Amino acid sequence: MNSAEIREKFLKFFESKDHTVVRSSSLVPGNDPTLLFTNSGMVQFKDVFLGTEKRNYVRATSVQRCLRAGGKHNDLENVGYTARHHTFFEMLGNWSFGDYFKRDSLKWAWELLTQVYGLPADKLWATVYETDDEAYDIWVNEIGLPKERVVRIGDNKGAPFASDNFWQMADTGPCGPCSEIFYDHGPDVWGGPPGSPDQDGDRYIEIWNNVFMQFDRQVDAKTGEATLTPLPRQCVDTGMGLERLAAVLQHVHSNYEIDLFQSLIKAAARETNTTDLTNNSLKVIADHIRACSFLIVDGVIPGNEGRGYVLRRIIRRALRHGHKLGQTKPFFYRLVKDLVQEMGVAYPELPEAADRVEQVLKQEEERFGETLENGMKILETALAKNPKKLDGDTAFTLYDTFGFPLDLTADICREREVELDEAGFDVAMKRQQDASRAGGKFKMAAGVEYNGDKTHFVGYAESAHEAKVLALYVAGSA
Ligand code: ATP
Ligand code: MG
Ligand code: MG
Ligand code: MG
Repeated sequence: MNSAEIREKFLKFFESKDHTVVRSSSLVPGNDPTLLFTNSGMVQFKDVFLGTEKRNYVRATSVQRCLRAGGKHNDLENVGYTARHHTFFEMLGNWSFGDYFKRDSLKWAWELLTQVYGLPADKLWATVYETDDEAYDIWVNEIGLPKERVVRIGDNKGAPFASDNFWQMADTGPCGPCSEIFYDHGPDVWGGPPGSPDQDGDRYIEIWNNVFMQFDRQVDAKTGEATLTPLPRQCVDTGMGLERLAAVLQHVHSNYEIDLFQSLIKAAARETNTTDLTNNSLKVIADHIRACSFLIVDGVIPGNEGRGYVLRRIIRRALRHGHKLGQTKPFFYRLVKDLVQEMGVAYPELPEAADRVEQVLKQEEERFGETLENGMKILETALAKNPKKLDGDTAFTLYDTFGFPLDLTADICREREVELDEAGFDVAMKRQQDASRAGGKFKMAAGVEYNGDKTHFVGYAESAHEAKVLALYVAGSA
């Protein structure tokens, strides 16, 4: 079953259960300035859940384009390292706005997976929130999943991959327990069942999350104590990764082996003259062309701050992988046509914007091509001197003079198992900022003839600050 059939079957199934099919919204959220990117299907319905927006339906379904490359959800560092994480992916979802609840949601999920998609029931596992007896009971007594494969999971805040089966929109507001469905890819793949210490493997793959918005969380301003009161209208929000489901249905272990990705990987191999189709860099490039193209479709352009800087960072990471494969000429933009071939029917906005996407990417490639080549030489020289650790001054020179975002340098270091002196980078950055500031004061005092330089300085300070903010995002603390 190819990706197109998977999308279609999903929407058809929920349409047959009286859901309204809603188109994917943009990767740039239109209703939430605090959110960097649309990172799940529910984003476009946020105000409906909060009750501040009304729609003429109470059940909806969609295939939503998502990006997890910044902000609270960031999977950029997982790309090329796990078989199941992308920056850009598609989320199949269904929603109930104060209509059906746990029973229908879980039963339909089971029906769709086992009867429509034909997944073997004995390979499926479910998790429920530790105190959610209602969901547990539906799985065990109504659906008939054996007890051994229904796992109760509590709050696991902080553990990077551990399931955290309690969802909340923010510190206050709608929240509730989740129930997730996992698929067991079998003993050939490393990893433990949900809730086990080895869950961070690719054997037991989380495919579908069912979130039950059940409570309103309020925090007492004085005592800081949280209270949960039942919501007047209980809601359901689900999300299933299309690529993960496709891997299961196409009997492959990795998302990168599915039809859609194989085409992009072949295209990346063609453009970089690579013969080994299993080369990891090809996977990264295939992932990144999707993220970058759709960001441009949705109006983001490469820049030094905010969303534009995330886009620039992803493009530059892709170009570095091309360089690693020996491609020093612009190649990335040539993959847009292949992407249109794969995804243009599902997302008509892509072919419409394809020329612009190519242009923007090509320009960015031409801009970074030369400094990438020279920066790599500097990096190699520094590593020849010290193969264990890259010093902060070199990392800063790469950033400041050669346009290497810090995460790009960190990615190269990680790949080569070299330590990166981030503290040293911060010191070098601060030194530069102090010097610029002193220079800026002088220039301002000196008056208008320095206007051009002054503008340049302000631009720099902003981008340096932005780099810091983004570093915090990556660290998960912002
Ligand atoms: P994981 O624990 O594997 O990182 P998650 O718990 O962060 O996934 P959810 O926020 O529950 O994911 O999103 C719902 C579904 O979207 C997941 O069950 C999965 O199928 C899919 N998904 C999430 N993140 C990614 C990603 N980076 N790439 C591809 N699919 C993803
Ligand atoms: Mg995740
Ligand atoms: Mg998870
Ligand atoms: Mg999840």
